Amino acid sequence: MPKHNIRIAGLKEGEHRQGFEIKDKFFQVYESSQVKAGSFKVNTLVVIRGIDRKLRIDIEGTITNLLCDYCARELNWPISITSNFVIKESEKEMDSTDEVIYVLSNQHQLNINQLIFEMINLSIPSKRTHNKSEQEEGKCDKEMLELIEKYATKIKQEVDPRWEVLDKLK
Ligand SMILES: [Zn+2]
Repeated sequence: MPKHNIRIAGLKEGEHRQGFEIKDKFFQVYESSQVKAGSFKVNTLVVIRGIDRKLRIDIEGTITNLLCDYCARELNWPISITSNFVIKESEKEMDSTDEVIYVLSNQHQLNINQLIFEMINLSIPSKRTHNKSEQEEGKCDKEMLELIEKYATKIKQEVDPRWEVLDKLK
């Protein structure tokens, strides 16, 4: 997989932009990645003001391997995310945090693969379903939906007798 490097030093005062395209291949090296497929545009902006360095990463695209919670079919999940970081120099290698990226004083490039990976995977919602209009258009399998609802009601009913027993004990 190519490294997505951005220039962070030897830059003039002001704004510096770079862009990358990310596709399925990007996620292959990350075994734990929940996102396996999709297409994304990554735009980076490095802002130099005196000794201050800031990095902004924008990612826009669509995750295409997630399954709908209702019908278990694949759905297209659009994402649009932004993260802002402060770049700080450090004498020794230090782990970056959510807000600060530590770089060595002689470091001119920053590989943002890990940041891209984390940003995209953290954007997955815990609950994902086809949206209302897709459901109405029949893209979301209603039969499966009804089955799930039926099953859910059945569980509720099965729980009820226990409450009856508890009531009798009172
Ligand atoms: Zn669905």
